[in-house]
Amino acid sequence: MNGSTSGDILEGVPGRHWQRLEDGRIRCEVCPRYCKLHEGQRGLCFVRARRGDEVILTTYGRSSGFCIDPIEKKPLNHFLPGSAVLSFGTAGCNLTCKFCQNWDISKARQFDRLTDLASPEAIAEAAARTGCRSVAFTYNDPVIFFEYAIDVAAACRARDIKAVSVSAGYMCAEPRAEFYRYIDAANIDLKGFTEGFYKRLCSAELAPVLETLTYLEHETSTWLEITTLLIPGENDSPQEIAALSAWLMERLGADVPLHFTAFHPDWKMLDKPPTPAATLLAAQRIARAAGLRYVYTGNIHDEATQSTYCHGCGALLIGRDWHAITAWHLAGDGRCPRCGAACGGVFDGPPGAGGRRRRPLVLDLVDGGR
Ligand code: SF4
Repeated sequence: MNGSTSGDILEGVPGRHWQRLEDGRIRCEVCPRYCKLHEGQRGLCFVRARRGDEVILTTYGRSSGFCIDPIEKKPLNHFLPGSAVLSFGTAGCNLTCKFCQNWDISKARQFDRLTDLASPEAIAEAAARTGCRSVAFTYNDPVIFFEYAIDVAAACRARDIKAVSVSAGYMCAEPRAEFYRYIDAANIDLKGFTEGFYKRLCSAELAPVLETLTYLEHETSTWLEITTLLIPGENDSPQEIAALSAWLMERLGADVPLHFTAFHPDWKMLDKPPTPAATLLAAQRIARAAGLRYVYTGNIHDEATQSTYCHGCGALLIGRDWHAITAWHLAGDGRCPRCGAACGGVFDGPPGAGGRRRRPLVLDLVDGGR
């Protein structure tokens, strides 16, 4: 938890999920850190803070920028493939990963990064205007700004635009249930498969993340995919990957896509080399051998290991190279045209072409896009 900074004027909107403690502090119950706050103090995430007798969210309506991305960049390979998604984030994070690949946003301690102001309606309108099928809460974890994310998702839903969450899944049960009612697809980072990894490198715990995965797959209609960033010498042993894959197969089933992505040295982990492609390929073999049907490599170019194949007959269904769709053979109903087996996912006809490249979007309107 962070103490208040000198001259720190707290502004924001009332936050939910907290309670007063007998010792006078207020406990935030949004994530399993349960920060206990004195007057004027910020939580570990930096964006939730105590002001008077309540917890406020200090980043409501403020963003670190907007981009139009391909949905495959989230990564989501089985959710409206080839469509464009309006991506944004705020600042701060409730994890402290030493290997963070978005640290300039997640570790932001000043809001000078939050240059774009946008109401939920303005974001929904911008998504519709630019041909995006969905809006994604990404770059930093939406857990910490979930009230804003919910309002954006609700405004999007009114325009038939989907909402996507990219998160580490470190969230308490009540806010989690509230949040995911509005979320159509999620990619959850499963950062490793040992408590030691989470504790040592993220100051967090594995168990709540596994609870979130189980909850999403069995108690919501949210489409779920999982990403594991493989870091040389930290979480890439064949034993750990086998244990992770066996757990996913047993608890979530064969149809949840799993992405193994390549690490590059960043933030406080500059002493590790980039992940060799061979490690990603070996992990993919292990996960497939465990029974998982859709296992992908990421952050490398390798069409063979990034494409989707039919689990029934092995036919190529969707060709992919990095974030680009290179082939499309899926029938309109999401089945294999050769054997008729259903491919897990959310499909809506042939792929869109609007999201192949990242495009920054200037969005500085605060009131309904006008
Ligand atoms: S959401 Fe932020 S303030 Fe609340 S418990 Fe988590 S880190 Fe602490």
